[in-house]
Amino acid sequence: MPPSPPDPFSRPALFLDRDGVLNEDRGYVHRWEDFTWIPGARETVAAFNRAGWLVIVVTNQSGVGRGYYPEDDVHALHARMREDLARAGARIDAFYHAPQHPEAPVEAYRHPDPPLRKPNPGMLLQAMADWPIDREASLMIGDKPSDLEAALRAGVRGVLFEGGTCWNSCGTRTCCPREHGSELPAAPGRSGSGAVLEAWVPAFAGMSG
Ligand SMILES: [Mg+2]
Repeated sequence: MPPSPPDPFSRPALFLDRDGVLNEDRGYVHRWEDFTWIPGARETVAAFNRAGWLVIVVTNQSGVGRGYYPEDDVHALHARMREDLARAGARIDAFYHAPQHPEAPVEAYRHPDPPLRKPNPGMLLQAMADWPIDREASLMIGDKPSDLEAALRAGVRGVLFEGGTCWNSCGTRTCCPREHGSELPAAPGRSGSGAVLEAWVPAFAGMSG
């Protein structure tokens, strides 16, 4: 099949992992009381909004499949995030979450290799089917190699965000490989404790720093 002509209305999308990128990853975060924004996250979302990018969250939520919390909690938390972002003049255009897990006790959430669950690219592919996205101009920021693998398999540039905390699976902040499927330069200021997501804005949203 020949490639379809570019959509004149397509826009770049900033795909964001959630836990460890937008908010501190404390392990299966599902209550607003346990939710803490990464410094600069809201401002970054707002900056990409102003630059005309779509901002889309793609988050594995196997806690649903594992039976730790109901899917309604995911929707409720994302609604609270939207409210709080609106107060900061920021907007996430869409949330995609992957509740499935290979060992889910509830059959509806059980799948041997869930297509939506990163490192599979299903959430990004679904977003690109739902929204007029300029794939080649888009960017995925994640804090784990599985985020960047999903991006790579969806044909989207991926970069590793190391400014967050990584409590549950890694134990330290610097345990993840620094580069994975990306030729992008390092974000300014990402080393050291002051690294914030805002560091990505000048480089990728076409703004002067
Ligand atoms: Mg994460």
